[in-house]
Formats: sequence, C-alpha cells, structure tokens
Amino acid sequence: MDKGNVTNVDKEDNDKEYEEICYICRRPESRAGRMLHIPQNICICVDCMQRTFDTMGGSGMMPQDLMMDPSFSNMGQMTTETEDGEETEEEKSSSGKMPGIRFLNLGDFNGMDGIPRNQRVKKSKKKKKEKPVFDIHNIPAPHKIKEQLDQYVVGQEHAKKVMSVAVYNHYKRISHEKESQVEIEKSNMLMIGPTGCGKTYLVKTLARLLDVPLAITDATSLTEAGYIGDDIESVVSKLLAAADNDVERAEHGIIFVDEIDKIAKKKNANQRDVSGESVQQGMLKLLEGSEVEVPVGANSKNAMVPLVTVNTKDILFICGGAFPDMEQVIKERLNKAASVGFLADLKDKYDNEPNLLRRVTVEDVRNFGMIPEFIGRLPVLFALDALDEDMMVRILKEPKNAIIKQYQELLLMDEVKLTFTDEALHEIAKKASEKKVGARALRAVIEEFMLDIMYETPKDDNIGEVVITKEYLDKTGGPLIHMRDFIKLPEKEKELPEHVAE
Ligand code: ADP
Repeated sequence: MDKGNVTNVDKEDNDKEYEEICYICRRPESRAGRMLHIPQNICICVDCMQRTFDTMGGSGMMPQDLMMDPSFSNMGQMTTETEDGEETEEEKSSSGKMPGIRFLNLGDFNGMDGIPRNQRVKKSKKKKKEKPVFDIHNIPAPHKIKEQLDQYVVGQEHAKKVMSVAVYNHYKRISHEKESQVEIEKSNMLMIGPTGCGKTYLVKTLARLLDVPLAITDATSLTEAGYIGDDIESVVSKLLAAADNDVERAEHGIIFVDEIDKIAKKKNANQRDVSGESVQQGMLKLLEGSEVEVPVGANSKNAMVPLVTVNTKDILFICGGAFPDMEQVIKERLNKAASVGFLADLKDKYDNEPNLLRRVTVEDVRNFGMIPEFIGRLPVLFALDALDEDMMVRILKEPKNAIIKQYQELLLMDEVKLTFTDEALHEIAKKASEKKVGARALRAVIEEFMLDIMYETPKDDNIGEVVITKEYLDKTGGPLIHMRDFIKLPEKEKELPEHVAE
C-alpha cells in the first residue's frame, strides 16, 4: 500500500519535470500552451488542432467542441467503415457536424515517420532572475550609472558620460510623465565610432544594468515596406520578443540600430532608394513615438499570428555607425572655416589630429547623407574614440569580465595560476591593432596561442603557474612554468635559500 503511494508521488514529481510536446508542430507545452489529448497517448496543441479544423473547411467546429463531443473519445475508431462501405453508427452521429469528413487515426502513424512515441521532453530549468543593478522607476544619478559602466567599459569617458545623462533623463521623463505639464523630449542617441570600439558593448551593458529588454538590429537589412528585406517595424517586434511578449516591458526597452551609416542618402542615385533615404523616412515615426501593430512570436504579419499594439513613445532608440568617411567630411568643414581671412590655416592642419571624430556636428552628419528630420529625432550626438594600444591593454585586463580574467578563472579551476608579463600584453594589443577591427581582434589573437597552454597544462599536475612572455608570443621561446610546490606553500618558500625561491 505504502509502496504504491510512493510510486504515485514519484510519478507526480516526474510529471512536473517533464512537459508534453505537440505531435504535429513538435513545440513543447511551455511554448505551445495547453495540449489536447486524443487516444493512443497522442497530444496536440490547440493551435495545430485549430489549423486542422480550418483546413477541413468552415465546419464551424472548435477544438473545444471536440473536447465536449462524446464521440471524440472514440476518435481512434472513427475512420473505420464497415466492409460493405456503409458508415458506422458513430460516423452517422458525427456526420451531422462535419459531413463527409473522416478523421485519420493518428495512432497509425506511430513510428512511421521515425517520431518517437514518447511525447515528453524534460522542462528546462527556469533561470534565476538576477536582481537588477538599477531600478528604472527610481533611476540613480548619472554619475552612479557611469560608475557602473566603468566596471565594464574601458576608456570612452565622454561617451559614457553622455550616455549616462541621456539615460537618466529618459527614464526620469517616463516616471514623471503624468505629473508634469511640460513635455520633455526623448533622448534618442546617435553614436559614431570606428568598428570594434565598443558601441554595441556599451548599449548591451547599459541594458543589462537597467534590466530593460534590448533589441539589436542592423540597418542594412531594413527596407521600405513592401520590398525584400525586413520591414522597419520588425525592430519593434524583436524588442517585444526580447521582453517575452510583455508589451509594457517592451515599451520601456532599448532598440539599438547598428550600421546606421549604411542608410545614408545615396549620392547621385537615379533609381528608387528603397534601402537608404526611404528607410530614414520610415523610421521617423518610430523614433518620435507612434503606435505600431506588431505580430506576437513571429517576424512577419500574417493571418495566423495575433497582433498587439506597442507604443514607441518611451522606447529609447540608440543608433550607431562607423561612418567611415566622416573624418573627411569634418576635415573639409574645418578647412573651409579656417581658409578664410587672416586666420587662414594650413590645409593639412587637421590631417594628423587623432580622434577628429570628437568634433562631429549635426552639420557633418547631414553632409554625410542623413536627412535633417532623422537627425532631429536623435538629439544626443556623440563620438567614441578609436582604440589605441594602451586602451587595448586595459581592455585585456581591467573590465569585470576581461578576457584575461576569464582565462585565469578557467585555469584556477585546475589550481594553476596564469600571469602575463606587461610586454606580452602590449604585444597582444599590437597584434590585435594590426587587424584593424578594434577590440574584437583581441580574443582571436589570444585564442591562437592559449590553445596550447589550455591543452598542455591540465596534463601535468605539478604545474603551479604559467607565465606568458613576449618571447612565447613571438615564437622565440616558451612560457615560463613554475612548479606547484614553490607557489602553493608560502611557508616552505621562506625556508628555501633566496635564489631557489626566486
Ligand atoms: P562595435 O563598436 O563595432 O559595436 P563592439 O561593441 O561589438 O564593437 O565591441 C567588440 C568587443 O570588444 C566587445 O564585445 C567588447 O568585449 C570589446 N570592447 C570594445 N571596446 C571596449 C571597451 N571600451 N571596453 C571594454 N571592452 C571593449
């Protein structure tokens, strides 16, 4: 008796850990919703059942009706016809509802298509929700936001400052909206910076700190509605997906549109400009704030997916791009201003100026090919600095989850200490700079030589420390290896003669 109870409890526990999957679309219960059970241990989601009915053609019967229908429980036998071709009693009773329609016996398909009979999958464990660093309804002062950003993003002081203030104002504006008479404008941003300098990383870090949903999209894939490519409104649908279809959360989210320079007005274009200026035109309404109908759980609108209305008025838009020839545009403007009158300067005065991008103005962006209405809706304009060798070294070791720290953590699990000499760090930064893709190259460079270290070190239990040297990177020598005893036991080290301990 007792034993029976135990097994029942076990079974229930087991059931909680598993979820059913739809026989037709293969989606699990957590995604497809409630399952309908039909004989032969088959379950089908309501959507698929509905679709089946729709295909059968306007019988007006709903899956729920089916559940109520007493003949449903005999569905497995409903296909049978008597030998002389006459309909059985059951068919007659149901044919009133769906004349001429016979149910397939889905059970017959079992095993035919290789689909396992077992229609259950183990539920994925729910992620423990991290406590957000900031509460957007009670947003901290800009210097606090910047302090947090400092822990992850190296350098880019100006960009971090501008962003902290813009985000502070944006979320303050949302939380005080109802009380104030003055309507405060949105702080949408336009950031300009060379590739790999941390534009996406900054936005991602910010969204994580604020715990708001973030959608990152590429302006190159956007085209005017009706043309091949993504509709402009699809960016909002991505945000909705990032917010787990929670409209209210999505409306406080951030949309990052990368490669915005690629939708600049084409010069001398005599064809229809469906992916340039017209995309900018299309984005105007979104940037300012409008109600958009977006499909839930899909990228395109069609009859099968439900639509919800999302208001973009409180969504923070951040546009970013490398604007490759922007320096030239700035130089031209500066030269023009400097070439008149007594203050005339030398023409090449600005040729060697580092971080010329910092001098960017709205006028330059317009000259580049962005339309004035578009720039007007991105009032916060700033540039990021190109990364030099010293910044790269700092990126290697300083951020909270710096690449080097990650490798050190991995080796620490094997109780091995990993260190890099300063020279080695500079060498890595130099090699990465040569690739001209910003900090993105750092990982590739490190991975190249860390492979051997990660492969060889766990082989030998006696290794206590590995020191990466410049010689090892240049392939003129190996890494320095210290054996375990000298490092693990400091008391022993003291006892040893000085030259050995060193
Ligand atoms: P992009 O400017 O092209 O969007 P990303 O933001 O994707 O460049 O940067 C690529 C990677 O380089 C990031 O994932 C990040 O790890 C690193 N990175 C770039 N800049 C910085 C920085 N200032 N501080 C820390 N890491 C950075």
